[in-house]
Amino acid sequence: MASQEIETLSSALARLPGLGPRSARRAVLWLVKRREQALPALLEALVAVRDTLVECEVCGNVDTRNPCAICADPRRDAKAICVVEDVADLWALDRAKLFTGTYHVLGGRLSALDGIRPEDLNIAALLARVEAGGVDEIVLAMNATLEGQTTSHYLAERLEGFPLRITQLAHGLPVGGELDYLDEGTLAQALRARRPVS
Ligand SMILES: [Zn+2]
Repeated sequence: MASQEIETLSSALARLPGLGPRSARRAVLWLVKRREQALPALLEALVAVRDTLVECEVCGNVDTRNPCAICADPRRDAKAICVVEDVADLWALDRAKLFTGTYHVLGGRLSALDGIRPEDLNIAALLARVEAGGVDEIVLAMNATLEGQTTSHYLAERLEGFPLRITQLAHGLPVGGELDYLDEGTLAQALRARRPVS
């Protein structure tokens, strides 16, 4: 029987995406065995995340500053906004270093199944950015899933009527593929081959 402390930590870790109860217990055992070396750094990193990370009120990115480093960077082209589902997608695209514009994080995708409606996503802020002017291209970089594409179509409709070029990622995205899992070459190709939303 594990102690209460170990149980508490295991069940906290088991809630992380990608970890089930079994891997969580293994992670806890690993940490317990290396508590002198590994725990201080981990604790420090967790506290730093709790105390310093904020959500950018412009784009929804997570950073230590608000507006985030991307929104605040004068070398970034504010005329182009790449719309992504999640912060992990933004990071994945930005690692590919191909897109020089700014981003907008929706915080999810439309889903009838999960009851996610447009008002549950960060869409109003995107429209406000477009309405404020100075934007001439929107890249819809949704995942190549059914829900991602539904979201993409919805956004294309909402953006109709603005003087904008609306593009979306093209070749290279495998059907059912999620951006965060793709290698940088595939992502770069998809971004380069973006095409107008029909
Ligand atoms: Zn930002």
